[in-house]
Amino acid sequence: MAQKSIFDDAVRTENGLELNGFVLQQVIDSCEGCERIKEIDGEQYCTSYPNPAAKWRHGACNFATHVKASMDKEGQVKVNPLKASKRAARNR
Ligand code: SF4
Repeated sequence: MAQKSIFDDAVRTENGLELNGFVLQQVIDSCEGCERIKEIDGEQYCTSYPNPAAKWRHGACNFATHVKASMDKEGQVKVNPLKASKRAARNR
């Protein structure tokens, strides 16, 4: 049985792709590489948020699977792209 996607209930409207009354915004550049991205009709949407850009407005998205956000001493959010795969390759 095919896995049910949350976008199964999404409908195309003249405003764009709409889900439960929210018009979905496409992911932004910072989302690239995140496993929550799902492509629909050649457009990329987040399976967790209708508006990905808003998730990045105050630092890194806390649901991103491809970056690890941490706070420095001043409380600023620091984004550390995950380098685990590169590191693993180097140690081979
Ligand atoms: S979870 Fe965050 S980083 Fe990932 S696609 Fe959604 S908004 Fe972008």
